[in-house]
Amino acid sequence: MTSDMKTAGLALTLVFAGLIAAASASAETSQGDHREPDAAVLSRIRSTAMSSDWAWDELETLTDTIGPRLSGSPQLSAAIDRFAHDLRALGAEVTLQPSKVDHWVRGESQAELVGYPGQPPGVTQRLHLTSLGGSSATAAGGIEANVIVVRDFGDLHAHATEARGAIVLFDARFDQGLADSGQAGPAYGQAVQYRGKGPSEAASLGAAAALVRSVGGADYRLPHTGLTQWSDHQAPIPAAALSSEDTDLILRLAARGPVRMRLLVEAQTLPDADSFNVIADWPGYESPNEYVVVSGHLDSWDLGTGATDDGVGVVAAAGVIQALQHLKLHARRTIRFIGWTDEEFGGRGADTYFTSVGPAISDHCAAIESDAGAGRPVGLLAAVPKESLAALRPVTDALAPVGATVILRQDRAVGTDIAPLQAAGVPGFAPFVDTRRYFDYHHTAADTLDKVDPHYLQSQVAAMSVLAYFLADRPDCLPRYPIKSER
Ligand SMILES: [Zn+2]
Repeated sequence: MTSDMKTAGLALTLVFAGLIAAASASAETSQGDHREPDAAVLSRIRSTAMSSDWAWDELETLTDTIGPRLSGSPQLSAAIDRFAHDLRALGAEVTLQPSKVDHWVRGESQAELVGYPGQPPGVTQRLHLTSLGGSSATAAGGIEANVIVVRDFGDLHAHATEARGAIVLFDARFDQGLADSGQAGPAYGQAVQYRGKGPSEAASLGAAAALVRSVGGADYRLPHTGLTQWSDHQAPIPAAALSSEDTDLILRLAARGPVRMRLLVEAQTLPDADSFNVIADWPGYESPNEYVVVSGHLDSWDLGTGATDDGVGVVAAAGVIQALQHLKLHARRTIRFIGWTDEEFGGRGADTYFTSVGPAISDHCAAIESDAGAGRPVGLLAAVPKESLAALRPVTDALAPVGATVILRQDRAVGTDIAPLQAAGVPGFAPFVDTRRYFDYHHTAADTLDKVDPHYLQSQVAAMSVLAYFLADRPDCLPRYPIKSER
């Protein structure tokens, strides 16, 4: 970060020199307008966003009135209809882009310990768990099997014989210390691999079911759901996230002797459902067929109401259109809001959009996605070449009054839905938000509206609005910056 900031400072001088040159060039030639977006305009956009309650009202509707928005659910359809309506009401050109999505239904999940060392007669212990997206069901009355605890994939394979017919429990702890130091993403990544691939690995060894220690920092015995993925042609097994506290309980008991569990999971996968990406264009005055995408995902997990994942992101992105509508302001290029469908179930909405773009990818100037929760925005993540950083200085200048001044350069996808666009070279951006407590609520029943600070939401709208307008209004797009696809 330090060297990037130095580069930014050095190149800033060059940008100002360029600005003066561009201004005098356009004075000399009457052809075209080569000015950079005006600082006063960027400030007005920020102030408008900071004084608007539109995004908050949308979030309240999304979470309190509509509720959880799982792929294939009637709530997701209701959210899509509502967004299309509200963006049309702002005067945006709204299209619903059809996309098939997964349709998985949770049902009940229950577990109890029915055998363990020192167990008093007639006593069992109820556990707190929730099934993982993509899990299959147990037999109607549940299953009963011994539990084996493994630390990682190597440990699983070292216990391949015991895994057959057993309930395998992956004990990978979310490193809250890492999250506290500002590295919540890597903390999540290193634990979530077992949620993503653990059940599949266990199934390949003939396990009866697989459990993972909940991925997240909360210590309120709350299970965190999420997607688990199966290899092609693999028959899914029952898979669930067990609360961190109950994982610790089993670890303690298993240290004393065999532990036996009864497990009931009712999950089922239905045929694919019809869904839509919501696309709302705020047309450019000069190049309406060139785009700056600003986005978040409309779907959510089903335990909470998807307030921070990703209600905040999707309403903040839509808030960009509202801020510009309020100011009656259009940029050179079209600012395209996208409310993605199916992010949580693998991103089929994003794949549909990317496929539909085809060669027109060259008309995508930049892509912004907010999907990191409701923490305080401290700046922007920017997947751009080092040389582009200086050009972004007017954005952080305009955002200084809300404290969003840091640009952290990235060489990776900054959002799962824009990852295919980024892989094709489109510069990618995201609000840089404080995620230290994000994984306390993420994918749990506690992801509800009260976790959102209205002021931080306004700050996110401000950050995305200023950035989107700036990128869409510059004479040129920033250089392409293909990142390695992580999907
Ligand atoms: Zn999300």
